[in-house]
Amino acid sequence: MKIVLLGPPGAGKGTQAKYIAEKYEIPHISTGDIFRKNIKDRTPLGIKADEYIKKGQLVPDELTVAIVEDRIKQPDCEKGFLLDGFPRTLMQADALTGVLASMESCLDHVINIQVPEEVLIKRLTGRRVCPACGASFHVIFNPPKWENKCDYCGAELVQRADDSAETVKNRLYVYNKQTQPLIEYYLEKGLLRNIDGEQEIDKVFEDICNVLGSENR
Ligand SMILES: [Zn+2]
Repeated sequence: MKIVLLGPPGAGKGTQAKYIAEKYEIPHISTGDIFRKNIKDRTPLGIKADEYIKKGQLVPDELTVAIVEDRIKQPDCEKGFLLDGFPRTLMQADALTGVLASMESCLDHVINIQVPEEVLIKRLTGRRVCPACGASFHVIFNPPKWENKCDYCGAELVQRADDSAETVKNRLYVYNKQTQPLIEYYLEKGLLRNIDGEQEIDKVFEDICNVLGSENR
């Protein structure tokens, strides 16, 4: 069960990743987490990555691939793994194919959680925070009791610049531009499984299980 999980910000990828990892008993490998762990443990790869990050530069694909390769060769990945946040580029995707081939293996599924852009924008711009006490709300998922007032201290809620429509649209644009070539790459390989991410969380997970289950029996 070797899986890559794709989905734009706001698609609920983190939640689904957690569910999948639990149900299929495979490690959830988030690139951010393995970078942080390598850097914290001062591994040779972590030290190299840290040099780029400290200079504010992007970590080169080769190094990212090496860190992921090292992780998926750990014994806990024997039954499979769920990659989240990797690959991000075509070069990384191709390198991953190569790494797996060298292990006489290959990916089983690329799960692509799809949500219409206008829904993502609604989800991602809905956060409101209290400038007085730091409490966080969401106009759809966790609305305050009184409109735009903090439940705890009554202060007027505000929207962070990060959550503004303009910033969110830009994040989605960057994501789409980056991910489109990957989607085509995996579509050609017959690995792409599109999932309707506009549904309830449990229904999305059910659809994912149907995909994962069907080819493993
Ligand atoms: Zn407050």
